[in-house]
Amino acid sequence: MTTNTLVQLNENAAKFISKPKKLFIGGKWVESVSGRTFETRNPATGELLTTVAEGGKEDIELAVRAARDAFDKGPWRTMKPYDRSKLMLKFADLLEEHGEELAHLETLDNGAPLNMTKFFSASAAENIRYFAGWTTKITGSSIPTSVPGKTFTYTRKEPVGVCGQIIPWNGPLMMAVWKLSVALATGNTIVLKPAENTPLTALRLGELVQEAGFPDGVVNIVPGFGGTAGQALVDHPLVDKIAFTGSTAVGKKIMSSAAASVKKVSLELGGKSAHIVFADADYEKAIQNAANSVFYNSGQACIAGSRLFVEKNIYDNFMSDLADYTKNYKVGNGFDPSTVLGPLISERQKERVLGYLDIGQQEGAEILVGGNATEEELANGYFVKPTVVANTNNNMRIAQEEIFGPVVSGIPFTDIDEVIELANQTEYGLGGGVNTTDIRKAHLVADGLRTGTVWVNTYNAMDPAVPFGGYKQSGLGRENGEESLDLYLETKTVWIDLD
Ligand code: NAD
Repeated sequence: MTTNTLVQLNENAAKFISKPKKLFIGGKWVESVSGRTFETRNPATGELLTTVAEGGKEDIELAVRAARDAFDKGPWRTMKPYDRSKLMLKFADLLEEHGEELAHLETLDNGAPLNMTKFFSASAAENIRYFAGWTTKITGSSIPTSVPGKTFTYTRKEPVGVCGQIIPWNGPLMMAVWKLSVALATGNTIVLKPAENTPLTALRLGELVQEAGFPDGVVNIVPGFGGTAGQALVDHPLVDKIAFTGSTAVGKKIMSSAAASVKKVSLELGGKSAHIVFADADYEKAIQNAANSVFYNSGQACIAGSRLFVEKNIYDNFMSDLADYTKNYKVGNGFDPSTVLGPLISERQKERVLGYLDIGQQEGAEILVGGNATEEELANGYFVKPTVVANTNNNMRIAQEEIFGPVVSGIPFTDIDEVIELANQTEYGLGGGVNTTDIRKAHLVADGLRTGTVWVNTYNAMDPAVPFGGYKQSGLGRENGEESLDLYLETKTVWIDLD
């Protein structure tokens, strides 16, 4: 892991982190009521980036009130859909204009390589534009009925109201934009709580929201910790809906807390996705797919293809070739242009991932390549090398629990029925992949997997127009695409007696 010259930090990004950051409430940048702050650090070096005002219960109270007022009394509610769309398009233009800066902030804060974060900032602008198009296309319907006399019955689609949005650290910019864009398109107001490890891009988005000219209080951004700020948002009686992306454990807690005031809840949770390779697959492409599906973002992806099912007759060769392929992955600082895998988000996450490697070995699994980076390679960052594990079976803990790191467990299978059954033997149901040149097998696997997405001979592909979400304990509802609008809309029925 030799370190090449690092890309110089974008000037605006440097300027942004040169000052402590505040909370964005009611269109103003404010300190937290408690005066408390927390640090955000670069996971590639451990260096302090800046301090951030720590939102707590009182700040959530202020933010929810601001969002409530903006929804109930402000110009947002009565704004014409076309004008809402124009504001969103302006926001997208600003995001694009500041794409380089946002990518640099993201790489600083969560460690992902710069080419990846640049792709994220470009995709974020695309996502907002896609949803800006929806503002003018949200319609109800008129419904013929059988009641006696003359009546006119129609439905209206109305925004849900104040939406609390809670996001994780593994793709903070994209996660923030996926949530903001659909909520804005449907006319809601928002209190967004970014993850405590990665508040920077969300805060910069707040500045761009302001610059785009959204009315005060439509978007509020309150960084803070899950147990305090996050929980206060979920518990607040004036919040109408919670949208959460994060772990299944926290998702369950949120769902049960939200039940107290029957809030609408949508959840994008964890995964343990199966990636299936049949012997008839394009071998080289399947190796690349298998590696990319799990090592993308250093395995810190909810859709990571972390259970790799390989047909028995090619299993040994495939695992050994995958291990060789994986050796070429360059692990390092995201600002090094040759880096393919950045660090994990924190020391804690690194320890957790390495802990799973110990557990796997105790269960009889064999590490073919990877594991911890050497002391020299590590410097101060939280690096784990991409790791290929063989001799695993679907019952082992490393094959059942979400590791959220660059670790793939290879499991042999004999036929299509067996592999579909094994793939479905998990509490999760987020994604899945199949590599085959037999169209029949591709369709049978796509039919058999109980997951929100199935990729055939590809993996990780996404688009703002395409729904994304999970079956089983991977979530509730879909983000992106037309379906996501429903999560942010109420249907009102109006009956008129015409007699
Ligand atoms: P996490 O659940 O620990 O935290 C996610 C967010 O929830 C953070 O903002 C955190 O502060 C907040 N939070 C924690 N406790 C809370 C509480 N009691 N009330 C309210 N908010 C609370 O998850 P993480 O470790 O940040 O992220 C990794 C997880 O996210 C993985 O399980 C991953 O699979 C999942 N994820 C899912 C998707 C998806 O679309 N399905 C996408 C990305 C990540």
